[in-house]
Amino acid sequence: MSFKYKDDIFNSMNLVQELVKDYGACLECGNSSIGSNKNVGSMDFDGKLGTFERTCKCGWNVKIKMEKI
Ligand SMILES: [Zn+2]
Repeated sequence: MSFKYKDDIFNSMNLVQELVKDYGACLECGNSSIGSNKNVGSMDFDGKLGTFERTCKCGWNVKIKMEKI
């Protein structure tokens, strides 16, 4: 499986690494241990799209959809 993200093509493993690099710490408060049981966010693969979701206790959240190539 490959995904398009930021005009590049990533396989699923590299994609998660890239997302953690970009969103490993909360963009609002800098907290890097976010959530109660998911500390690097969650990645779901659903049909043609990959969805990355990340939330923080400060209220910040991000949801990114990536197109499957
Ligand atoms: Zn935060």
